[in-house]
Amino acid sequence: MSQNRRIFLSPPHMGANEQKYINEAFEANYITSAGEQLEKFEAEAKEFTKTKYAIAVSCGTAAIHLALRANDIKDGDEVLASSFTFIGSIAPILYERCTPVFIDSDEDSWNLDPLLLLEELASRAKNGTKMPKALILTHLYGQMAKIDEIKAICDKYNILLIEDSAESLGATFHGKHSGTFGQIGIYSFNGNKIITTSGGGMVVTDDEKLAREIKFLSTQAREPYAHYEHETFGYNYRMSNILAAIGRGQMEVLEDRINRRREIFDLYKESLKEINGIGYMPEIPNSVGNRWLSCIVFDEKLPITPEEIRLELENHNIESRPLWKPMHMQPVFKTAKVVASGVSERLFERGLCLPSGTAMSNDDVIRVAEIIKNTIKSKIKI
Ligand SMILES: *Cc1c(COP(=O)(O)O)cnc(C)c1O
Repeated sequence: MSQNRRIFLSPPHMGANEQKYINEAFEANYITSAGEQLEKFEAEAKEFTKTKYAIAVSCGTAAIHLALRANDIKDGDEVLASSFTFIGSIAPILYERCTPVFIDSDEDSWNLDPLLLLEELASRAKNGTKMPKALILTHLYGQMAKIDEIKAICDKYNILLIEDSAESLGATFHGKHSGTFGQIGIYSFNGNKIITTSGGGMVVTDDEKLAREIKFLSTQAREPYAHYEHETFGYNYRMSNILAAIGRGQMEVLEDRINRRREIFDLYKESLKEINGIGYMPEIPNSVGNRWLSCIVFDEKLPITPEEIRLELENHNIESRPLWKPMHMQPVFKTAKVVASGVSERLFERGLCLPSGTAMSNDDVIRVAEIIKNTIKSKIKI
């Protein structure tokens, strides 16, 4: 029977207290986008990430949109961004009618290559070309980008740094949290993320003015009058108090979830070690990732494509997925500027995300690895 139970890529995994906090919200009759659960969830997020301000919103994409709006980035401004990422990181650039400029990845982090970033900014500075306003930097699959180098470059050229930490809540570099290096960081609590509120997001910042503006814009930009007075427009982006209750329960188990994701990654690596030609998503020195998804890459020398492996896993009712298709390869961005190295294209062609849900048993992980091994070995024999 258990052979037929579907293994999903990254399903929700509730802790012990989510329902209890939902019940508290019901008892208080705060079935709305304000209330004690929201306040507590935000306080817990601040405490965990050691930031001064946290604003809970409807999703990670909305959080990035608010980051751009609050900084008045709009109408033809250029915004630098990681090319190797998910569309939710980039769509807000289009919401504000801005122009994305994509920066490719490097081999040793799979994340944005600081040298390409520097090359782009230095050449603009030299030629006196207009500078981009911001960088949206993704820490992919829970693993830290080279944040110290990237931050230094942004500071040098006066570029606002927005950290897309949607996938990397709890990841650290020198003990400092992903999302807390730039002026603004964002997290996602979508159903597939390391912790979830079904759908949801959070903005964190140490800047009081930005925090106030983001809260204001997320709640329809209402001026402080008894009636509804508007000097500008905002959004209905606030998180629900019910979903914040789920978030509180999830925060209690976040450390456990990170530890388990890291164990799952290590177990895949151990189980697959006899196969030469499998590479693993790196972890840069002095960082600890959350290993949201265990990602591997198959060397061109192996007689198999990641798609063949994916289909074989699917035959066993196991979900896996190609790595993100880089933004500069997407039809919607076919005319966008990209500083390319070829790294993310190769990762997309040769990579695979393995099931990484924290409720998976070790036997499940080993079974997935066995199927991968057997599929490769069967090809080698022929
Ligand atoms: C999930 C995700 C987002 C968007 O978050 P939502 O809560 O789904 O809107 C943005 N960027 C990255 C890298 C993501 O993985």
